[in-house]
Amino acid sequence: MPAPIIQVALPSPLRRLFDYRAPAGAHPDELQVGLRVSVPFGNRQLVGLIAGITDQSSVPASKLKRASELLDRTPLLPDSLWRLCSWTASYYQHGLGDTLSSALPVLLRRGEPALARQDMLWQLLPGAYPEHPAVGRAPKQKEAVQVLAKHPHGLSHALISQWGLTRDALEALERKGLAQRISQSPHHVSEPQPLLKEPPLQPNTEQQAALDRILAADGFNAWLLEGVTGSGKTEIYLQAIEHCLQQQRQALVLIPEIGLTPQTLERFRRRFNVPVVILHSGLNDRERLDAWIAARDGEASIVIGTRSAIFTPLARPGLIIVDEEHDLSYKQQDGLRYNARDLAVYRAHLEQVGIILGSATPSFESLHNVQRGRYQRLRLTQRAGNASPPRFQCLDIRSRPLEGGMSRPLIQLMGEHLRQGNQVLVFINRRGFAPTLMCHDCGWMAECRRCDARMTLHQSPAQLHCHHCGSQRSVDRSCPKCQGQDLRPIGAGTERTEEHLLSCFPDFPVLRIDRDSMARKQAMQNMLARIQSGEPCLLVGTQMLAKGHHFPDVTLVAILDADGGLFSADFRGPERMAQMIIQVAGRAGRADKPGQVMIQTHMAEHQLLLDLTEHDYSRFAERELAARQAAQLPPYSFMALLRAESNAAAQTNQFLDAACELAEQIAAGHQLDGVELLGPVPSPMERRAGRYRAQLLVMAGQRSGLHQLLHMWLPALEQHPLARRVRWSIDVDPLDMF
Ligand code: ADP
Ligand code: ZN
Ligand code: ZN
Repeated sequence: MPAPIIQVALPSPLRRLFDYRAPAGAHPDELQVGLRVSVPFGNRQLVGLIAGITDQSSVPASKLKRASELLDRTPLLPDSLWRLCSWTASYYQHGLGDTLSSALPVLLRRGEPALARQDMLWQLLPGAYPEHPAVGRAPKQKEAVQVLAKHPHGLSHALISQWGLTRDALEALERKGLAQRISQSPHHVSEPQPLLKEPPLQPNTEQQAALDRILAADGFNAWLLEGVTGSGKTEIYLQAIEHCLQQQRQALVLIPEIGLTPQTLERFRRRFNVPVVILHSGLNDRERLDAWIAARDGEASIVIGTRSAIFTPLARPGLIIVDEEHDLSYKQQDGLRYNARDLAVYRAHLEQVGIILGSATPSFESLHNVQRGRYQRLRLTQRAGNASPPRFQCLDIRSRPLEGGMSRPLIQLMGEHLRQGNQVLVFINRRGFAPTLMCHDCGWMAECRRCDARMTLHQSPAQLHCHHCGSQRSVDRSCPKCQGQDLRPIGAGTERTEEHLLSCFPDFPVLRIDRDSMARKQAMQNMLARIQSGEPCLLVGTQMLAKGHHFPDVTLVAILDADGGLFSADFRGPERMAQMIIQVAGRAGRADKPGQVMIQTHMAEHQLLLDLTEHDYSRFAERELAARQAAQLPPYSFMALLRAESNAAAQTNQFLDAACELAEQIAAGHQLDGVELLGPVPSPMERRAGRYRAQLLVMAGQRSGLHQLLHMWLPALEQHPLARRVRWSIDVDPLDMF
């Protein structure tokens, strides 16, 4: 029988496996798909996973290298997670090795053993007591026996000095047969505990109706839980999780950003008496691996994390929840460009469990899945706990002067709310002082030297920043073109709005919340504490303000500019704008203080704005979905975007032209009707950070047609000589066309 050959998935951008001879001394029976193995690769040593075992290879036997060592005895991942990763690699056209590597905690990628860290505990043996003759006259040992007697389930070694004990004394007791050390998982629960720490809230009628459907179901079911902000979606998650835990199963919860939602996380910990692991960016590599293992081995009952947590293995999966399912942060924008929300649905199907996608402003993709009967829609139309919904109005700013981005009537309205002792939230989605610096004499504008973009003027310190490549320079004193002295900031960003508000309302604090002002640690926490105190004040901020928080004393939400979204070059512009408006509006108001939302616009009669302000998000979405259908845009068609960049425009274009030709040949050769190639065209920002960017869009009426093409196209593209001379990537289901 020929010696076995292993096909290894390695962290390499190449979309293929690599053949090796089995490691020396490895018995053929030990070889299994899913084991990690370390192998020589070029002049490096890499860790990969065995993806196949065969007895032949296209590599001649004399050139076949031998793998160095098997790193696991049993497969690292449960079967379902292996299948999820294989599917992800194939769907997003990414190498399996690189996909698996992105899915694993860093320490496992480096070959660390996949074993849980154990706590060491000291425990008395039966028959030990302080006056035991063997203890004799050793006071330290006697004291140790007394302390251990108070810890029948064992005392953690890490805590012994806090109890005044020494290792020597404990080891002496061990030698005398009076104490022993035991090891235990840090998530171990010594006695069965009641599941809940606090009772659930009594569901209202709508919540009950939703829960009835969720709890009665079995196997795979996808629910779109569409509930206005504050309608009690989180309470539904909690009660659905309770049901899942009662069946001894685990729940996986995806949230958009951990740092911004401490209150939500606190609600999970407060409710349940079970081990909850939270995968946040503050964990070190070891903690991350421990959490991963606790989930895989079934010790963590609830796993909460952002995007990448979708790859956490679970021993006994029971329920998946994706909160704020419309949020763009579920899409990874580089490397493996996956969408964790979509993978979550696929995973729920694979594991045959239920999935709840929650949002006040569902993505059009999810609404379309409801239309097609793939998801069941559950609606919560009322705020829980009697809070009334905010009132929406448009403020027509045509021919009104704006200062700091605000019109006079808006400033007046703010004054009224402040004088009544309330807080005002001002939303403007641009940080910095002004988006442009312009010469009033000749019209010159400050541009980035490395990008096709204008520089944003920042005030403290005064500098020009490019928000696309990060470059900065000092502010020009005179116009480089005409030497004119009259350089003026055009438009408004958060800093300018803040400045103008300070001059209008000198008696009220103005709190600015954007990436610049929140850069310092704790800045957000301090700011939130001030807002929660309820003093009348003005909050000015970007989308950082829009997520997660609840500001009960805010009674006026001012949206300075909605027009950008209506006329965006991106067909998703209106959807994003509406989601943003509703999310920001949802921060405000409570029972005794209903909120008012004022939207400044030049297009007060625009149908989409009317739908949104006079009806609701659903009405808006219906009309906009119909427009997408008429134009055959997603979710009614399917897209993949091939992006390329290099130091020279000609090189970028040459590659994309070749790619386009290749795709046309494949489509024609395989009668792939309904696949369309658009481009190549320069990217909307052609030059960024000194590199020339262009793109080719592939569109198809059917997902299967698109994927058939991609499966043939990408391997061929990878082999193309021009492919080495540019940086390129494929984005399946792109959310961002830039
Ligand atoms: P969402 O997740 O939809 O924004 P939450 O679950 O956070 O809504 O609920 C909003 C507020 O209403 C919270 O303070 C919550 O405690 C309260 N709440 C939710 N459900 C109920 C209920 N059935 N009875 C009373 N209060 C509720
Ligand atoms: Zn000039
Ligand atoms: Zn730049």
